[in-house]
Amino acid sequence: MNDGTTRREFLGSLAAFTLFPLEQEKPELILHNGHIVTMSAANPVAEAVAISRGRFLAVGKNTEVINLAAPGIRKIDLGGKTVLPGFIDAHSHPAQAGLSHLRMVDCDLRSISAIQAALRERAAKMPAGEWVLGFKYDDTKTEDGRPLSIADLDAAVPDHPVHIEHRGGHTVYANSLGLRKAGIDEKTPDPPGGKIEHDPTTGKLSGRVAESAQDFFDKAIPHSFTRDDHREGVKLISKMLAKTGITSATEAQGNPTDLRAYQDARDSGDLLYRAYCFINYRFIDAMIEAGVRTGFGDEWVRVGAMKLVCDGSISERTARLSVPYEGRPNDFGILVMTEEELYTYGRKAHLAGWQIGTHANGDVGIDTTLRVYERLQREDPRHDPRFRLEHCTLINDDLIARIKALGAIPTPFSTYVYYHGEKMRYYGAERLNHMFALRSFLDAGIRATQASDYPPGEFIPMMALQSEVTRTDTKGNVWGPHQKITVEEAIRVGTINGAYASYEENLKGSIETGKLADLVVLGRDPLKENPSTLVTIPVERTMAGGRWTFES
Ligand SMILES: [Zn+2]
Repeated sequence: MNDGTTRREFLGSLAAFTLFPLEQEKPELILHNGHIVTMSAANPVAEAVAISRGRFLAVGKNTEVINLAAPGIRKIDLGGKTVLPGFIDAHSHPAQAGLSHLRMVDCDLRSISAIQAALRERAAKMPAGEWVLGFKYDDTKTEDGRPLSIADLDAAVPDHPVHIEHRGGHTVYANSLGLRKAGIDEKTPDPPGGKIEHDPTTGKLSGRVAESAQDFFDKAIPHSFTRDDHREGVKLISKMLAKTGITSATEAQGNPTDLRAYQDARDSGDLLYRAYCFINYRFIDAMIEAGVRTGFGDEWVRVGAMKLVCDGSISERTARLSVPYEGRPNDFGILVMTEEELYTYGRKAHLAGWQIGTHANGDVGIDTTLRVYERLQREDPRHDPRFRLEHCTLINDDLIARIKALGAIPTPFSTYVYYHGEKMRYYGAERLNHMFALRSFLDAGIRATQASDYPPGEFIPMMALQSEVTRTDTKGNVWGPHQKITVEEAIRVGTINGAYASYEENLKGSIETGKLADLVVLGRDPLKENPSTLVTIPVERTMAGGRWTFES
């Protein structure tokens, strides 16, 4: 630029190069010499970005961007590494999981003896009589080939009550002292919608308690979390997410306490991902009364949709299906709320300007939820309501057409095929071609997202890519090959589509000038990787708002 052209003319001459309106602004940081996959149609691949005040000030070729730098500015050479927009997990339970990681024993272990050892170790550090709590236990993932028994738990921890949550969240396992403290004995009847399991031969309690019978424990276990504990939980999970390249996550079953925890963590500098905090329908009246609706907040903590629940779960085989589970001819799964209840709460939220996100897994659950959404739009049409179908697992052509017509957003499980392969046989090979149906969604022009549902599912974005692209589990079984998508599509699903699901597509989800500086630097290029090793691609660094949230 020594030929007399002004800087403005120089910039104007570069076709694919645009500058954020604050032209006089100087970059604070430049990342250059990268292979930057932007997910922006106008400028799909770049070499360098300039960042200022947490946003991309410029995205382009090395020379273009470096030219903006004042002397002495911080420049980082990416060494040709691949950069993607930061990943957006559109449905998980991070604040609540963080709290569990803080206080509970992580029972995601591969043998009953390893679980026993972990419980014993925890109990040794606690005064006798106090509850030993565990989570993320999965009956299908231990090498023993049988579930945890009450005898296993009594042997491991005899003098503390023990309570272990199944990873899916619908069943718990307790020892004898735990059952006693919860007021459960051999004669306790099953509550409506719940089950206290007995050994079929001896009639004695098995220690396993399902669905609404879990309430016995909710009343008996003192949950004495302080405000600080909640903030610490967000801090802990923040680090776990950042390590995998996640820069935004939806708290899919949030409540006002979670909203406060997110604000506290932001204020203390511990919040490392942008939170879109759903609010459970039980709190909707108070929220509406306070004048709050979806979108309230800022780039870091935002009020999300109101959450409703229509049917059961995939991992624990309680989703409501039109055709019964394989080998269980009378089992169609369960409906959790009635259509009328969904409509009543939905209408209240819809009229108050809230987005609605309804948990709907089975085809019957999705059909019911769509009927409610269609009715809301028919009676009180709203511009761009972006109704969400949380999970939206089992679809058919009619459901796809209605989702498209409504402009609704499905958030299917991204890592289930890969990680929960052993549970897929309950649905059968043919049905799997209509589950987690990204190919069908994308072909219909529906903007489906990446979603882990952590703790039930793993949240690692590279695992999501592998699962969605290969439809293959860890043992090599292929489940629903018709639904395979490409790596590029999977990245789009995990970035820009996630931003759209929270009305933030103009703010994040791609690497473009003016957008938030959220990105991930990878050890290898997923677009050149063998799809069956995508999960092994290392995350080297994660950035949110121009700040490194993880560096390996
Ligand atoms: Zn969930």
